[in-house]
Amino acid sequence: MPIQTEAYVVHEAHGPFELEQVQYQDVGEHELLVEPVAVSLCHTDVLASGGSFMMTPPMIPGHESSGIGESTGALFFFETSRRDS
Ligand SMILES: [Zn+2]
Repeated sequence: MPIQTEAYVVHEAHGPFELEQVQYQDVGEHELLVEPVAVSLCHTDVLASGGSFMMTPPMIPGHESSGIGESTGALFFFETSRRDS
């Protein structure tokens, strides 16, 4: 079942960080779904949003986060409802 949430999205290099509704596919068998508690942006996100460092837009920045594991795929072992960072 697809998952709907809000995220800041950068659509093009040097474009604005826009708050939008986004949709993910269900958790893959090797994935963990995390409900974020806090997310920070660092210089890596800013550089990447410019399109010349590690990845290029479109992207959802914020690779430094903390949250609670909600569910896992069949091949991912993690104790859900555990706070982790
Ligand atoms: Zn960073």
